[in-house]
Amino acid sequence: MADKSFNAFAMAQAQFDNIADLLELDTATRELLRNPLREYTFLIPVRMDDGRVKVFRGFRVQHNDARGPGKGGIRFHPAETIDTVRALSMWMTWKCAVVDIPLGGSKGGVICDPHNLSVHEQERLCRGWVRQLAQVIGPLRDVPAPDVMTSSQHMLWMLDEYEAIRGARFPGLITGKPVGMGGSLGRTEATGFGVVFTLREALKELGIRPGDTIASVQGFGNVARYAIRLYNQIGGKVICVSCCDQKDETSYCFRQKDGIDLDELLDITDRFGGIDKQKASGLGYEILPGEAWIEQDVDILIPAALENQITAENAPRISKRVKVIVEGANGPTTPEADRIIDERNIFLIPDFLANAGGVTCSYFEQVQSNTNLYWEKDEVLGKLDVKMTSAYLAVSQLAHRKKLFMRDAAYVIAVNRVAQACKDRGWV
Ligand code: NAD
Repeated sequence: MADKSFNAFAMAQAQFDNIADLLELDTATRELLRNPLREYTFLIPVRMDDGRVKVFRGFRVQHNDARGPGKGGIRFHPAETIDTVRALSMWMTWKCAVVDIPLGGSKGGVICDPHNLSVHEQERLCRGWVRQLAQVIGPLRDVPAPDVMTSSQHMLWMLDEYEAIRGARFPGLITGKPVGMGGSLGRTEATGFGVVFTLREALKELGIRPGDTIASVQGFGNVARYAIRLYNQIGGKVICVSCCDQKDETSYCFRQKDGIDLDELLDITDRFGGIDKQKASGLGYEILPGEAWIEQDVDILIPAALENQITAENAPRISKRVKVIVEGANGPTTPEADRIIDERNIFLIPDFLANAGGVTCSYFEQVQSNTNLYWEKDEVLGKLDVKMTSAYLAVSQLAHRKKLFMRDAAYVIAVNRVAQACKDRGWV
């Protein structure tokens, strides 16, 4: 479960400070990049179905837009905090820079639990979020997208509200729209597939055949599912997945030593990525405590749920067999755990590189929306593969050349690009 003392922003700043030292950044550039350029916090009054008004707190943080309009998702989560949104917006800046797309970093959120909201209440909440921000977001300023517990339907309500306010169609306002309503084919698969494109390249470099590997995955949402789908297609087998049960707010693992059947598990999963324990047990899955995913005797670990999941406390329990950790989630590993992983020579593909497939496809969606010309799915996924592979290779080559931990190499490339854009604009 989430550790309340954990501060994602402090972690993002610590990671940045480490790179700022390495790059010997000047004081002004450091100050500019270790904090968000702009942040908005606001209240959203929502008329509930029973006639009462409930007030929610919303956020939008625009960390940096030197390389292009801000880009980043919106989370609906009961434990959302401004510091989490700050960290995520900062990671978005590095993510767009490392895959070299012309966008900056933003992130948004609302403190709420969508499980306890009806569809109409969720719609009013989405529209209220946009009403508070209509003047400071837009296709040329800041482009939102779905994230944890938000969907293409939420994006469409937000787009509709924005267009009603502005009195015209702005399909480039938001990404993750439904296909047929300006969405891009391949967006649903993009993040999970991107995770596996980078994993495939890493295994190639390490001289390991994917078909000889097994993996354990934390999470069973959008990222995890499509990562599992493509990993299976390249020959890998997942033996353990975990998810959070919304009823008791506890996480569980589902283990099948011969390999999970993705479609079979999807049939018994709710729309928030929670797997039905009783039915899974009936299908022969072992039900284990939530932390068990990290201790499995596997070659590959794929954290794809939330931040702060691999820590100094549980990293020593990672099996000796693990060769690669590929981070599907944002910020799943703390800096202390990074050190343990580095010392143990486990190859890590860092979050803002591994999970950049989502934002890359969102960028493709914007290009399609703005030109009103839509591509076939194969074209989208083919372009995504090219972008992810070349970003991965640039990072791994730098890591080899300078003997850097992969996260540091990715940071060096990203921070350099953003610092240069700030300099070129005459900001610092
Ligand atoms: P999602 O809401 O679709 O799924 C989240 C999954 O994690 C669910 O299966 C949930 O049950 C599980 N989960 C939640 N808490 C857990 C816990 N404590 N232990 C085990 N499982 C738990 O979310 P998603 O879109 O798959 O995003 C997952 C992560 O990937 C997040 O960190 C998100 O920021 C990041 N990410 C998502 C995208 C994207 O395109 N969806 C892009 C980049 C990064």
